[in-house]
Amino acid sequence: MEQGKLLIKHASELVTCSGFAAKRGEAMADIGVLADGAVACSDGIITHVGTTAEVMAQVDEADYRVVDARGKALLPGFVDSHTHLVFGGYREEEFAWRLRGDSYMSIMERGGGIVSTMTATRDATPEELLETAAERVRTFLEMGVTTVEAKSGYGLDLTTELKQLRVMRRLDATTAAEIVPTFLGAHAVPPEYKGRADHYIDYVIKEVLPEVKREELALCCDVFCEKGVFSVAQSERLLMAARDLGMSLKLHADEMADTGGAALAARLGTLSADHLLHVSGDGIRHLAGSRTVATLLPLTAFSLREPYARGREMIDAGCAVALATDLNPGSCFSNSIPMLFALACIYMGLSPEEAVTALTLNGAAAVGRADRIGSIDVGKQADMALLRFSSYRFLPYHVGINIVDKTIKRGIVVADHATNPRIYQS
Ligand SMILES: [Zn+2]
Repeated sequence: MEQGKLLIKHASELVTCSGFAAKRGEAMADIGVLADGAVACSDGIITHVGTTAEVMAQVDEADYRVVDARGKALLPGFVDSHTHLVFGGYREEEFAWRLRGDSYMSIMERGGGIVSTMTATRDATPEELLETAAERVRTFLEMGVTTVEAKSGYGLDLTTELKQLRVMRRLDATTAAEIVPTFLGAHAVPPEYKGRADHYIDYVIKEVLPEVKREELALCCDVFCEKGVFSVAQSERLLMAARDLGMSLKLHADEMADTGGAALAARLGTLSADHLLHVSGDGIRHLAGSRTVATLLPLTAFSLREPYARGREMIDAGCAVALATDLNPGSCFSNSIPMLFALACIYMGLSPEEAVTALTLNGAAAVGRADRIGSIDVGKQADMALLRFSSYRFLPYHVGINIVDKTIKRGIVVADHATNPRIYQS
């Protein structure tokens, strides 16, 4: 047996999600299921994909570490393309206020909201941020997530934005997950710039963005384009500056009101437009006609008791839809992949097949890596999730329950259900 060689055989279903770019509209339902499937990988890369008989005819089993996947479905590792993974503090008190029906303004007046997380993140040491984020990464890995996008945006000043991004770099280097860093310096207007959003955008463009670029700390630049936060014009100004530095673009768009964010994203060809709870029909048409992925975050709508994004309508209109958790300490303190599958299928009208595409290949496209991850194709990174059940259809069906048996990152089993607490006493 050679190091770095893994063979998974006899998977009851091998769900390949084959493809190297986002799937749109009807194509999202095409996930490429093979019965009795096998995958061989070497040095972290997939080398053979097919039925067990096909693959076994081409490899020598003795060379491999073998996983027998009888009765289990094998899928690409999940890609969570929208999280705020690295932050200080929690807001459990504010959550209780919200349940009571307290208004957003009254919560802000009591020091809640994003400013509370900003202060806690500014105060936290890099080690503290690393430790809490690594614990969240652990739960991601247990749920089959092999790639996690992570946004800055809780510093809202040069020092803390860089601190957050450097923590992401360390997470990428030290955990089994692949972390895709996004600079979200324009997440909110910090107290120092209250009422001066334009000046804050100037500051981000002149003082922060160049430093982020100099250290190559972020792949993407994102903006919170929202009524009362950053306008379409301000968002565009910052995104254009980021594009000039060679960064990929993302956009928080039309979450609380339709401000034309989706149309801006489509026009700039951003990797994704995210949230879209209040996107207009026009905005959907713009996205459908663009290369931008519509990233939907139903755990946030659920946590805020907001109506869900119109995922069914978007797919029917020809959009490429991705699903992501939006894990953050305020509006959605959850990275539950099982819940995400259930909400997407039960409340947003996605089929199980569409939800699988949304969390694999389309998630990969939303972070600009569909050429490397998001499907089980020869030549791609060997990132996979093996389920404890025989079909991917159990993902939304077994509501809220993690059914991942093993998570494989670059050909290595990095999470294994078998090592969880023992059921029987001895
Ligand atoms: Zn977000």
